Amino acid sequence: MPSSDDSSHLKQEAVRLTASLSDDLFEFSRALYDDPELSLEEVRASRRLTEILSREHFQVTRGVSSLPTSFVAVARGVRPGPAVAILAEYDALPDVGHGCGHNLIAGSALGAGMVLGRLRHRLPGEIRIIGTPAEETVGGKVLMVKGGVFDNLDAVMMIHPGTEFRVFTTSLACQSIEVIFEGKTSHAVAAPDRGVNALDPLVQLYVGVDALRKSLTSEVRIPGVIVEGGKRANLVPELAVGRFSIRARNRTAVEAILDRIVRLAHGLASASGARVSIRRLDETYDEMLTNSVLAGLFKENLKALGEETNDAPRDRMGSLDMGNVSHAVPALHAYVAIAPSTGALHTREFAQATISEPGRKGLLLAVQALSMTAIDLLAQPETVAAARQELLTTTGKGVK
Ligand SMILES: [Zn+2]
Repeated sequence: MPSSDDSSHLKQEAVRLTASLSDDLFEFSRALYDDPELSLEEVRASRRLTEILSREHFQVTRGVSSLPTSFVAVARGVRPGPAVAILAEYDALPDVGHGCGHNLIAGSALGAGMVLGRLRHRLPGEIRIIGTPAEETVGGKVLMVKGGVFDNLDAVMMIHPGTEFRVFTTSLACQSIEVIFEGKTSHAVAAPDRGVNALDPLVQLYVGVDALRKSLTSEVRIPGVIVEGGKRANLVPELAVGRFSIRARNRTAVEAILDRIVRLAHGLASASGARVSIRRLDETYDEMLTNSVLAGLFKENLKALGEETNDAPRDRMGSLDMGNVSHAVPALHAYVAIAPSTGALHTREFAQATISEPGRKGLLLAVQALSMTAIDLLAQPETVAAARQELLTTTGKGVK
């Protein structure tokens, strides 16, 4: 096993290697910026990544978990040891292209893969670069966790560009549902008594969900929309469809809220005479569990590179498909600053920040900090054991 002295040499070398790759990595991220692809259509981004990783001595498997644009790339060290993964996202958004900065996430994972791959002869264990598509829609990682892609791993890390440096990321658990009321149409003026209005119970449900939210803890969000509510005012609506996204601090809380919405919808259906059906629109997202061992190492490495992190609790958060990964493997989803604190994700301005000088600097720091933290984990098995113990304590489960 390398001594800590060796690992500090390796980290210095990783910093130097990253600097020498910096222009190429920035050009790679810019190429994705110039050629944005939507979720599940990231064919060219996935190919660019896997072609380079293959040339860098990674064994690449494409299209895992029935996601054609996903991949797993593996490079092995000199002897058995921990297995550490770094994740790439590369899907863009309609209209705003890489407004969530996933081109930099891909660039940082590629960069860390190139650096660690070139140091593999001096490292134990295994480095995996995992391509996780469709973060913005179906949550590729949720499907990949179910498909076993994250089994037999000791740590999983990724960075996301943002407006601050942060290692402790939290997110809300989430479940999207569709509620369908079915009634019976009739002339809404001449014979309303012969119809069953499907829109009325949906409107009452919409209002009722808002009232329900007020009785719950402050972080709960249950935004909803009515996607179908009738065709003409003189026809009693026979079909009404609503969609709700239930967000709460963990899966148990989400399920408890879902149960109340289901009971409310059935009560409204029986009072109105309409039929109701409710279905889940996607997999449940878990809340993000940031592993403090990984976070501590990443924070120290950022500090060595001259950056301080904001460790105050987050006051605004959404949901992340990384949440599900973090319940299976010790995980880190760190933020790297590339835009001022007034900047907002999912905007054209944020996309432009990824190809600005702060974007270039953020990419360099991300690759350096990811590589250094991977070296810490690979070279010091006790850190991996501590990270695993924390996950088991927090969840009472964990794979492996
Ligand atoms: Zn994102």
